[in-house]
Amino acid sequence: MSKLEKETSAAKTIQAYKDAATQIGLVLKPGDGLDSGDYPHDAYTNLRYIRRVNSIGKEHRKIIKIISRVLVTQRDEKGKPTKKEYIYYTGNFKAVNHRGIEYSAGFTIGKYNVPKIVQEVRQIIGPNSYDDNFNLIGYTSELRDRDGRFYAFVDFNADEVGKIRECPHCLEYEIHNKLQPRILKKGQVKPPDYDEFIQCYECGNISGIHETHFESKIKDSVETTDNPFEGNESIFLSTDNRATKT
Ligand SMILES: [Zn+2]
Repeated sequence: MSKLEKETSAAKTIQAYKDAATQIGLVLKPGDGLDSGDYPHDAYTNLRYIRRVNSIGKEHRKIIKIISRVLVTQRDEKGKPTKKEYIYYTGNFKAVNHRGIEYSAGFTIGKYNVPKIVQEVRQIIGPNSYDDNFNLIGYTSELRDRDGRFYAFVDFNADEVGKIRECPHCLEYEIHNKLQPRILKKGQVKPPDYDEFIQCYECGNISGIHETHFESKIKDSVETTDNPFEGNESIFLSTDNRATKT
């Protein structure tokens, strides 16, 4: 990745998702053109545009349009909340190809999204959940993002490598769709067995989450840093010296 790309919000967001996934032994599905895989669509698409512009011609211009200032509450070394000012900027990369046509891609530099993945583990006690030595080798985990929104069901193998559970029906046609919590019809009351089934939102196919029985427990949460701003000095534009209002 070129230096131009690396410092953008899009590239840093994608990297943050990779890092967060690696931390819990999860491999995210890579994007494929229009499909952003398991990555946030906006960041994925933006990075594609930036790469396209950077691959055109020899001269690349970086035009800053808007500089924004935000006050962020952070905890200092003693855990005391302090307000700190950060600056981020948005603009365009521009390049002209050999025919003289100008290409452009928007960028944001100075902030990016860090997924905070909370891992809830549901142990599936089924025929294939234990190995010959009665060690638990398979269970389903539910991953949620920092806002508590459902992200995916994930199976971990004995090597703690996770795989997002995908719809087996769609997979027959080599289409990757995440299985998600069951959809209730308008006004429908949650049935007692609601948690036992998961559904594909594309084809409607319903799958069982476990074979015969499961226990639910919360495992240690895996959290990445909550600070959405990067520690790159060239990005902070020396706001440290400025007096901040508290
Ligand atoms: Zn499906």
